[in-house]
Amino acid sequence: METVLSGIRSTGNLHIGNYFGALKNFVKMQDENRCFFFIADYHSLTTHPTPDDLHGKVKQVLAEYLACGIDPEVATVYLQSDLTEIPELYLLLNMIAYIGELERTTSFKDKVRMQPDNVNAGLLTYPVLMAADIIIHKATKVPVGKDQEQNLEMTRKFARRFNTMYKTNYFPEPTAYNFDEALVKIPGLDGTGKMGKSEGNAIYLVDEPKVIRKKVMKAVSDIGPTQENQEMSEPVKNLFTLMNVISEADTFKFFIEKYNNCTIRYGDMKKQLAEDIINFNAPIRERIIEIMADDAYLGKVAKEGAEKARESARKTINDVREIIGFKQL
Ligand code: AMP
Repeated sequence: METVLSGIRSTGNLHIGNYFGALKNFVKMQDENRCFFFIADYHSLTTHPTPDDLHGKVKQVLAEYLACGIDPEVATVYLQSDLTEIPELYLLLNMIAYIGELERTTSFKDKVRMQPDNVNAGLLTYPVLMAADIIIHKATKVPVGKDQEQNLEMTRKFARRFNTMYKTNYFPEPTAYNFDEALVKIPGLDGTGKMGKSEGNAIYLVDEPKVIRKKVMKAVSDIGPTQENQEMSEPVKNLFTLMNVISEADTFKFFIEKYNNCTIRYGDMKKQLAEDIINFNAPIRERIIEIMADDAYLGKVAKEGAEKARESARKTINDVREIIGFKQL
């Protein structure tokens, strides 16, 4: 049995990228493994230090998680900020993380570009907090999208370094996981890069049908192929990647053929894609609305989840303190 961990920042609603990159795999694993699922509300402060409605957003993300099929009776679902053990491990790991390696991570460099007026120390040590989140439960598998590959490599590095420095093999080295083997990157609708909540290019699971139609119809494409089997431009490749994960195989094949023989009309393709996304989202969206209306249920899930997660985290912290050499005087 593997120990599986997955998390999500509470800065915005869940989008299709989150679903296919992380959630879908987690839901498939929950029955047969020891699974932890958490909402990274501390992490969200690295980009949004003064959130206008932190509580509301956390509640929304929790409801969205549950609506996607995470079962709190089976998996342990909790909020990062409910466990004081996580910041404690983060502090200890900071002592063995080097500034140089943190400055070189791609996600840090990206954030420096995106928010030059707020290059805070939390951004720099983001991979350390992420490592603490993961190894606090000694997780072995982490269902993530391709965007998190490097951060997970950092987690492995810190786990390895801890083991070497303190002459132990206490922490396992966790690996990224996707059922389809290759890690997934769901593209955004703006023609470049990945779908992300900070990028303004996402389709959210709670989006209403008319919003989805509008977003998809506005997605970037190109002037169309002019010769048979022409190589695709990045924006068109992105549309096909989305269609490949969302639509039926026959639909995907139909439009690929139309592309290859130069008869494709992107308008038709987008209309079809929008309807397929709407159908995919519909049952999840319904459940999100239902769960959001049930405060008592959400409160119970968070409380019980925190208790279960704390038990596992407490054990790790006690072991780590002993390994490093802390003792009561
Ligand atoms: P975040 O939204 O950055 O908190 O990411 C939460 C989880 O969703 C992580 O496991 C990411 O790897 C995954 N994820 C986010 N965006 C994408 C995307 N565009 N494609 C695939 N996975 C993604």
